[in-house]
Order: sequence, then C-alpha cells, then structure tokens
Amino acid sequence: TWGQVREELIKRVGQNNYTTWIEPLRLSHLKNGVASFEVPTTFFGDWVSRNFADHIRGQLAVAGSPVERVEFTVGAAPARAPAAKSGSRSAAKPARARAVGAEEVTGAQLEQRFTFDNFVVGKPNELAHAAARRVAEGGPVTFNPLFLYGGVGLGKTHLMHAIAHELKINRPDLHVLYLSAEQFMYRFVQALRDRQIMDFKELFRSVDVLMVDDVQFIAGKDSTQEEFFHTFNALVDQNKQIVISADRAPGEIKDLEDRIRSRLQCGLVVDLHPTDYELRLGILQAKLEHYSNQYRGLTMAPGVLEFLAHRITTNVRVLEGALMRLFAFASLVGREINLDLVMECLSDILRSSEKRLTIEEIQRKVAEHYNVRLSDMIGPKRLRTIARPRQVAMYLSKQMTSRSLPEIGRRFGGRDHTTIMHGVRKIEELMAADGQLADDVQLLKRLLQS
Ligand code: ADP
Ligand code: MG
Repeated sequence: TWGQVREELIKRVGQNNYTTWIEPLRLSHLKNGVASFEVPTTFFGDWVSRNFADHIRGQLAVAGSPVERVEFTVGAAPARAPAAKSGSRSAAKPARARAVGAEEVTGAQLEQRFTFDNFVVGKPNELAHAAARRVAEGGPVTFNPLFLYGGVGLGKTHLMHAIAHELKINRPDLHVLYLSAEQFMYRFVQALRDRQIMDFKELFRSVDVLMVDDVQFIAGKDSTQEEFFHTFNALVDQNKQIVISADRAPGEIKDLEDRIRSRLQCGLVVDLHPTDYELRLGILQAKLEHYSNQYRGLTMAPGVLEFLAHRITTNVRVLEGALMRLFAFASLVGREINLDLVMECLSDILRSSEKRLTIEEIQRKVAEHYNVRLSDMIGPKRLRTIARPRQVAMYLSKQMTSRSLPEIGRRFGGRDHTTIMHGVRKIEELMAADGQLADDVQLLKRLLQS
C-alpha cells in the first residue's frame, strides 16, 4: 500500500515536497488505526506532521487503509534526508524514539522549542507575552483564567508550552498539566467508557496549573463542556491557575454554554494580533540564527528575509516553514539562498499568500455573520437589518482590498461610488459610537484574514 500511496502523494504535494519530505519517511508500522513513520529528526517529523499528515492520511484511506492518526518517531536517519545534516544533536537518542506531532492520549507533550527565549516579542503579541510571563513566575494567582486568543499560527501554543517549561524551573513543586481540549475530551470519553470517571475527576482536580489549548474544540460537545465546567470551577475555587487558549474571544465562540463563557471572561482575556512586518522580520532573524548553526556553509543573499517578511503575511507557521524549506532545499542542491531560489522553491506558498481577498468573499462572510442572504448584499432592499450589514461589507471591501470605490460599487449591484463612500463613512461613525459594532467588524476582519 505505501508504495501506491507514495505514487499518489507525488501528485498531491509536488515533486519537490515529495523528494524532500515524503521520500525519506520509513513506514514502521500500520495497525490499530495508527500509521507510524520513522523520521531523521524531531524537526523533520514535526514539519511532515503539520504539512503532510492530512495528505498521508487521506491517501491511506483511498488505498483502503484508513488510519486515525499518523505519528512520527525519530529513528535512524535515512540516507537522503536533508535534515540528517543537522548533526548529532537531534539524532542523539535514536533508541528512545519519541512520538512527535501526534495527538497522544496521555497528552501533555511539550515541544522543547517553544520557550520564552525562542519567542519573539513585538507589538502584536506583547500583552499576551507579558501575561504568560506573569503566570510562568508561579506567584500568587492574580487573574484566573488567563484566556489567550488569536488566529492560527500566532503563538498561542508556543506561549502555553513556554509557561509550562518556565514553571518547571520556577516552581518544580507544582503539578502542571497541559493538554489540548481535544485530548481533554478524549480522556473524558475514555474515562466514561472505562467507568473511571472518579479517577478522571480526581486527576484533574489535583493539578496546580491547568492549561487547555484550543478550547473552541469543545463547543457543541455537551457532556464534555459540562465536565470541563466542573473541573474549571473546582480549580478556580482552590485558587489554582488556569490558562486557556482559543481561536477567538470567549464571546465569539458559538455553541458554548453561557455559564462557561462568562467564567472564561472573568479572568484576563488577551488577544494575539496578526503579525506586523517588524515582528515577522524579527522571527525570521531569530530562526535564521538557528538554521545557520544547523546548516553550516550555506549562505543567504541580502534581502531574502525582508522579502519573505513582506510577502508571507498569513501566519508564523507558514513563515517558519518557508525558511525551513529554503534551507533544506538549498542544502540539497548546494546553492546559495537568494531570490531565485526563493521563487523556485516557494512558488506555492507565495502564490497562496498572494491570493487576494475578493469582495465576493467579504460579502459571503458578512452575510453569514448577520444571517442575511448573499443576494441581499447586492440587492436593493433598504431595510436596516440588511442595509447595515451591506454597509459593513462595503467598509471591509474598502479596508481590506485594493479595489477603488467605483469597482466596489460595481460589485455591490452596480451602486454609485458615492453610495459606497457613504456606507464606509457611516460604519466608521457608528463604530466610534457603538462598541458592539466595532467588535463585530473586528471579528469579521479576523475571520477574513485567516
Ligand atoms: P497557534 O497555537 O497560535 O496556532 P503556535 O503557537 O503553534 O500557533 O505557533 C506556530 C508556529 O509559529 C510555532 O512554530 C511557533 O514557534 C511560531 N511562532 C509563533 N509566534 C512566534 C513568535 N512570536 N516568536 C517565535 N516563534 C513564533
Ligand atoms: Mg495551537
């Protein structure tokens, strides 16, 4: 099967990716719903897990061997793996193969890289960083919970792991438990099934610091929410620190019970904003240092980092991935890292981040958000409940695309540019006066950016 799957994967991920990331994988076993692969380094496994695990899972399913998860363990380095050049550090313990990137039932696996030292602080994340630092001191609880939220790849998980690492040093006496909301649910369901719910409750009530990542996952999952709520309350009552992350603010998570929502809101809620150019450049510079040690002898032409920081604005994970791929590729072909190589090796990433937001997408999102028809966005109705969302869409179109007012007007059913201007002004005015509307627009922006 794996042979077949590999053939298919070439088509899916492209020859370059295939040669760099898939070919070096060694299938070590395929059973009990798990496909396990050997990879040369933790880093390599992490990368494949993030970028190609879904493809692999998908193709395994197509080939008749569906698996629930794909995991990667560090083993003997295959000869052609580019990352094998990274030397002895990452391949130091081949005997104690460590699962990376995979969802583990036991949870709480911390990524060594995710430390405060490796976290680059800039305007968009300084508040979140400061709050995380405070929690990591392990002093008396001042806000509970700490609720971190923001779009994909902006550093929520990184900060949570950093807290855990730091607490291990500052307060080795504390029992710190980090897990994803998905793992929380998994354990809960398992405890129910095995009739060990008392053990489950006891375990969770005995921790000193509980960190639950991606809590939006339990929205709509009633019994898990219920249990989460009880755990949460029990810990807060004992004055134990809780840290939660989500992809949006508590008030914006749908299908979350109100009592949970309000409890989540009563601590410190901080937002990780989308990165700005400076932060992206800072992150790239920090990473560059890391890679320069790993891939000695490779050189980089000036302007490459600036180009990447300018062009790849989606999320930090993609940014990191781009740099990593550049190094892997350059070391494979023995070339300098310059803009030519960037174009050659990152064309897919550049293309997708180039993909501009369309007015149509904005209209669709806004219509969805306000529960009105897409056709009403361009139609003539003047009812406030329809006209207002339409103006929001106009405002966002002006703000988030480079279209001119007449062009926007054309896409709003042939309206005049003055109508568009009026709509934009109206929303600006209203936002200044109405916090709810301002929040709405903020949320829509974030949804459209991710
Ligand atoms: P999230 O959990 O918000 O989706 P992660 O914490 O997983 O995002 O971050 C994605 C990747 O980006 C990680 O590899 C992380 O180390 C990196 N990253 C994000 N923000 C920063 C930062 N400020 N400094 C350094 N690395 C960062
Ligand atoms: Mg995360």
